[in-house]
Amino acid sequence: MRKKIVAGNWKMNLTYSEGVSLAEEICKRLNEAGVKNLDLMPEVLFFPPYIHLSQVTKISEGLKGVFSGAQNCHTEPKGAYTGEISAPMIKSTGATHVLVGHSERRAYFGEDDQMLVAKVKAALENELIPVFCCGEKLPEREKENHFEVVRAQIENGIFWLDETGFENVVIAYEPVWAIGTGVTASPEQAQEMHAFIRKLIKEKYGDDLAEKTTILYGGSCNPKNAASLFSQDDVDGGLIGGASLKADDFIEIIKSF
Ligand code: PEP
Repeated sequence: MRKKIVAGNWKMNLTYSEGVSLAEEICKRLNEAGVKNLDLMPEVLFFPPYIHLSQVTKISEGLKGVFSGAQNCHTEPKGAYTGEISAPMIKSTGATHVLVGHSERRAYFGEDDQMLVAKVKAALENELIPVFCCGEKLPEREKENHFEVVRAQIENGIFWLDETGFENVVIAYEPVWAIGTGVTASPEQAQEMHAFIRKLIKEKYGDDLAEKTTILYGGSCNPKNAASLFSQDDVDGGLIGGASLKADDFIEIIKSF
C-alpha cells in the first residue's frame, strides 16, 4: 500500500513562538489521541518557515510518523548567495523533506523548470525527499489545457530521474486556482488529474513505481472537504495551507482518512 500523507505548508505565517506552540499542540494531541500508534493514520509533515525548522523538527521527532521539511531550498550547497538556505543546511536540522516548485515560488520568484530540476537534484543528493508541486492556472483549465500543463511540469521537473531517484519523490497536485481561494477542486476533478499523473508515471517507470508513488492534493483543503477528496482512489493525502495553521482543523484533516 502506498504511503498516505497529510502535510502542512505554513508559508510565511506565524512567529517563532507561535509556530513552536502550534507544532507542540498538534503533536501533543496526536499523541493523546493515540492516533499515531495506528498504522492506518497518515504520515504527518510540517513545512514551517526556515527559522522554525530546527525546533519543529525536534518536536516532530518525539512522535512516530511525524516529520518536517523546508518550503524551499537553493540549488547550490553553499556559497555567496546572501539570504538563501541550502539543502545540506536543511538536512543538518534533522528535517527530511523539502517542497520544490510550489506555485507561489514559480509565480513570485521566477522558478522555472531548469531551476526546479536543480532543486530536486540538490534535495536528493542530500537525502531529502522532494515534494514536487505541479498544477494549472485557471485560464489553462478554462482552455482545457490543464492536462498538458501538468504533463509538461512533471516531464520537465522530475522525469529525468532514474527509478531509484524517482522512488524518493512525492508529488503534490495543486491547481493554482484552488490555492488560498476557498475554491476546492471537486473530488472528481482531483481524481481525474491524479489518475492522469499516475498514468504518466506508469508509462515512464512501469506499474510498480506508479502504484507506489504518493500523490497529494492541495488547494483549499479543509476539515469539511478532506474526507471526500481523500476517499478518491488516486488521492493519497493533502498538502494543506491555511487549514494547517489551526491545530483543530489540521487534526480533523489528519483524521479524515
Ligand atoms: C498550499 O499553499 O500548498 C495550499 C494548498 O494552500 P491552501 O490550502 O491555503 O489553499
